[in-house]
Formats: sequence, structure tokens, C-alpha cells
Amino acid sequence: MDDLIQENEDLKRRLKELTAEAANNESIMKRTQARELTLLRADSLAQLLRAMVDGLRESYSLDAVSVVLLDPQHEVRHLLVAGGDRPEEFKQILFVDSLIGLAPQLAVLNKPWLGPYVGADHHLLFPGASNLKSTALVPLPRKDRATGALCFGSHELTRFTRHHGTDFLAHLGAVAAVCIENAVNRTRLLRAGITDFLTGWHNRRYLQQRLKEELARAQRRAGTIACLMIDIDRFKGINDGYGHLAGDNALKEVAHRVEAQIRSMDTAARFGGDELAVLLPEAGAAEAAKLAERIREVIAAVPFALTAQIERSLTVSVGVAAIAPGRDETDLKAMADRLLADADAALYRAKALGRNRVQVGCG
Ligand code: GH3
Ligand code: MG
Repeated sequence: MDDLIQENEDLKRRLKELTAEAANNESIMKRTQARELTLLRADSLAQLLRAMVDGLRESYSLDAVSVVLLDPQHEVRHLLVAGGDRPEEFKQILFVDSLIGLAPQLAVLNKPWLGPYVGADHHLLFPGASNLKSTALVPLPRKDRATGALCFGSHELTRFTRHHGTDFLAHLGAVAAVCIENAVNRTRLLRAGITDFLTGWHNRRYLQQRLKEELARAQRRAGTIACLMIDIDRFKGINDGYGHLAGDNALKEVAHRVEAQIRSMDTAARFGGDELAVLLPEAGAAEAAKLAERIREVIAAVPFALTAQIERSLTVSVGVAAIAPGRDETDLKAMADRLLADADAALYRAKALGRNRVQVGCG
């Protein structure tokens, strides 16, 4: 009889434990599903990475979260920076050339690894964190290999042990990996649509869109905006005389020298073949003309290395125009077209007057 009572008590206790575990699992599952939705909804790469690091840390009450990303071409990092996000904001994202070397477990990570935090093995994974006692390393699988890992750290030794189930974490890792791949592809496409491959500058499409935004801003502040149109003089002769690669090198170097003269708030774009445009928010015609003259000088002053052996001097002609959008003007596109046409007309005059000079349009 006593045995039966004892057995009954044991069964009751076991049932209670199982019920508690089921409730706990359900709560983890709900939280994980909510987190996965947040990752899936992220609009940009930066937002996604923030959702991974800060979002996961908060929602799972973790003491440290980092994301290891395999990025041997440094592409993801560049895409992030090019999107205007500062890399120092992403200290918990570890971009690596290879997974080996960061932590022994990462090299062979094909399912989540849970266990005690070992300083010698894991300190590189959690920059700035201290007193960690246990850790979960969750692979980010794409196709048949890991492209990185989510790393969770806790001050509690029992938070992550090899006795815990890992299905939720494996699922989270798989979703996170797809989200990263999507965000990288989307960012790549977006950039390709607005970027000139030769110079790395923005293209004409971007400039025209940006100009409308800047005009709206200038209108709100009753300010001005200026534009430079820069065109290489007799550029065709470089291509004809030394080949297209030499021409490409010259174009890149011209862009480089222009870039060194402009402010960070200015927008430079390759407008067409050998024509570059720069938008100068909050600048008037006189200020823009001064900059144009400085650019003309730095191009003419030092010869260009067209190939390893050949150096040639180049000059540019520059057209300048400025506009102060009136409060009552509503057609931003017409204003943008007028500014660009004025700068272009001034450039045409500079060419007609003999090149290697700056002309200011009527505006
Ligand atoms: P001008 O002083 O009147 O501007 O003379 P130009 O020879 O520079 O003018 P034109 O517009 O006749 O020639 C521009 C040349 O730029 C023609 C085109 O082949 C060349 N070009 C356009 N895009 C590229 C490019 O990406 N690379 C190279 N190498 N050449 C290019
Ligand atoms: Mg030209």
C-alpha cells in the first residue's frame, strides 16, 4: 500500500514537472516566434542586425549577444557602412574571414552548442562582456554550411547546458540566416541601382532624386542650393590615344580629386560619360564658383597616371548654377531640371570659351 502511495506521489510530482516544462517550452516557443517575426520584418540590414543583437538580448533576458558573420570579401561590412550606418554602432557584429580561430566550437558547428563559458575558448565571441558563465552558440546555416553564428551569453551557469533542448534555437538560427541573406541581397540590389561602378559614386538617377529632396529642404529653410557640372576636356583623345583602360583610370582619378575637395554634406554623382555633377546644399553661386575653381586647379596642377608608364595632364571645364527655391514654387521636378540645365549651359559656355575654365550660369 505504502508503495502505491509513494508511486502515486512520484507520478504526481513528475506530472507537475512535465506540466511546468511544457509551459516553459510554450513560453519559449511564443517568444521565439515573436522574435523570428521581428527579424523577418526588418527593413534594412542595419535594422536586422540591431534586432538580432539588442532585440534578442532583451527578449531572452540575456547578458550578452553577438553575431559572427562570415564576410571574407568584406562586402557585408561595406554595404552596412555605405548605407550610412557607422560600424562602431555594430560592435557586437563580428565580421570574420573564417570561422576557425574565433572559437573551437564554431569550426564544426552544425547544430546549437550549449555549455559552460570558457574564457580561453569564448572570450573573442563576446567583446566587452564579463562574468559570463554559460553560452549558446547557434549556427546560421545556409545551404550545407554555417555562414556565421548567433552567440548568447549568460551570467547563470545553468542557463545553457547540454541537457537543454536545442530545437527552438536551431530554428531561430535558420530563420536568422535566411533573413541575413535576404537583407544582403536587397541592399546589394538597391546599391547597384544607384551606384556607378567605375567611380563608386552615385549615378544620375540617385542625383536627380536627391536633388528634389535637397530642393524641398532648401525651400523649407529659405536657403539656396548650388550645382557643379564638371566635364573632362578632350577626354575622347585619352581613350583614342591610350585605350579605354587608361581613360577609366583617368576618370577614377578625376572623381577622386573632386571628392577630396567637397564637404561631406555634398552629393557627388557621375552624371554621364565623362561628366560629373556635385550638389552643394546651403551654397550660393559665389561659394560654388570658388569650389569649382579649386577643383579646376587640382585637376590641372598634377599630371594623371594613365598607366604604370604614361602620365598626362588633364583639364576640366566646370559649369556652376544656384537656385533659391521660392516658397510658392510647387514643382520640384521643374526646379531640379532648371538647376541642372543652367549648370549644363554654363558648362557649355566654358567649353566654347576654350575649356579649362569655370563659368557661372544666370540661375
Ligand atoms: P570635350 O572637351 O568637348 O568634353 O571633349 P570630349 O572628348 O571629352 O567630349 P566627348 O563627349 O566627345 O567625349 C566623351 C568621351 O568619354 C567619349 C566616350 O567614349 C568617353 N567615355 C564615356 N564613358 C567612359 C568610360 O566609362 N570610360 C572611358 N574610358 N571613356 C568613357
Ligand atoms: Mg568631355
